[in-house]
Amino acid sequence: MSTCNDIRYLIDVQDKNITFLPGCVTLGVYKKQPCKFISGELTYDPTHCEKCGVKNENYTVIKNGKQESRITLPMTGTSLTFLKLKKQRFYCRECHSSFTARTSIVETNCHISNQSKAMIIIKSAEAYSVKSLSKDCSVSWHTAQRVIDKTARSINHHHHQKLPKNLSFDEFKYAKGMMAFEYIDAETGDILDILEKRTSCFIKSHFITNYSLEDRRNVQTVTIDMNAGYAKVIADIFPQAEIIIDRFHLVQLINRSMNQTRVKVMNRFKTSNNENMKKYRRLKRYWKLILKNEMKLSTTEYRYYSLFGQRLEKAIVEEMLDYDPELRANYELYQRLLQAISKKQFKALELVLKERSSSLISSQMRTSLKTLRKHLPYIKNSFRYPYNNGRIEGINNKIKVLCKVAYGYRNFYNYKQRIMIHFKFRAKETNSIISNQKKSRFQAA
Ligand SMILES: [Zn+2]
Repeated sequence: MSTCNDIRYLIDVQDKNITFLPGCVTLGVYKKQPCKFISGELTYDPTHCEKCGVKNENYTVIKNGKQESRITLPMTGTSLTFLKLKKQRFYCRECHSSFTARTSIVETNCHISNQSKAMIIIKSAEAYSVKSLSKDCSVSWHTAQRVIDKTARSINHHHHQKLPKNLSFDEFKYAKGMMAFEYIDAETGDILDILEKRTSCFIKSHFITNYSLEDRRNVQTVTIDMNAGYAKVIADIFPQAEIIIDRFHLVQLINRSMNQTRVKVMNRFKTSNNENMKKYRRLKRYWKLILKNEMKLSTTEYRYYSLFGQRLEKAIVEEMLDYDPELRANYELYQRLLQAISKKQFKALELVLKERSSSLISSQMRTSLKTLRKHLPYIKNSFRYPYNNGRIEGINNKIKVLCKVAYGYRNFYNYKQRIMIHFKFRAKETNSIISNQKKSRFQAA
């Protein structure tokens, strides 16, 4: 009896009606591949006839031979594993029909074990291509895809639910030149749906057909990033919603234009003059210090910098700013914007944006100022509400990994299913990744 239990534990068979005898594992070949066969027997005393429902009393239902079927199991070790299960056949004397014993390890008329199916789902939640996961689970590509389809359908029925109060919008590239649109619950981080296209028209019709006006009126905020032109659509779909621009994108915007300004100034020093070359190299090497929040520059810790010697961070930045008045002017503006955004001081930000900028301000910085001015009302909301696109960005990164590892998806529907399964089954783990990302994102600000 102990062999029986050992095998049961080994291949995760809980059904007590299946018995294994010593020596039940044999090596063999299937489709030219070496494999293991485990022989088992399934039998029990049925309580009633499955065909007519008559109670099994006084041998109404009798055992009538056995039927062997080959059931695919997950691999054991490195080889394919099959369960050769001898299923009991029963004969009913009342209705004169036969039926086969049932077991929880496999569905009727199916030869792929539920363990294998579970394995497919577990693997499909990870970044594997369908081809490689079907190989690992010893099933065909079509079988794997079918199991994934079935699971995805069962988890993807949120349209019957209400919209959450706080939404977050984003987009991602999924094939050459193709952009998809996704929206999530900004509070819980649950993916609500993914759309194939991100055009205003497509988004609008999606929300209008799937949700009632009453439901849409309930939406209070929608967080978006600055590049996307969703503002108008949002006003159309969600009449009560406030638009929030993700704060991280504000920082990113001014960060980028400050860096471009630095490169521009730096390249001016790229001459044959030795003194200028020294400045060029310093500006090139210590770009991070210029972008760093001024308040976070160390004024107490002396460290060794190969192009400066033993110095303070603050002193290095000051010296580099002295090289060029344009660099200094832009740096000062950049720092004022950065302080206002990171401390959520809307008045201060408004003040900087209203000022007439000096002629020393670079064209890149001017463009950023213009963008900020344009989105000012939405930026104000981002200071008032605690929501940001951190979660959705984290989700996006994961989605990209899924796409890359699976060598791209030609079929958007299949891709979407993988994404939904991934976030449904790995929600916990993903949340911790996202919170880590959030931490690192805001360290910059
Ligand atoms: Zn019967």
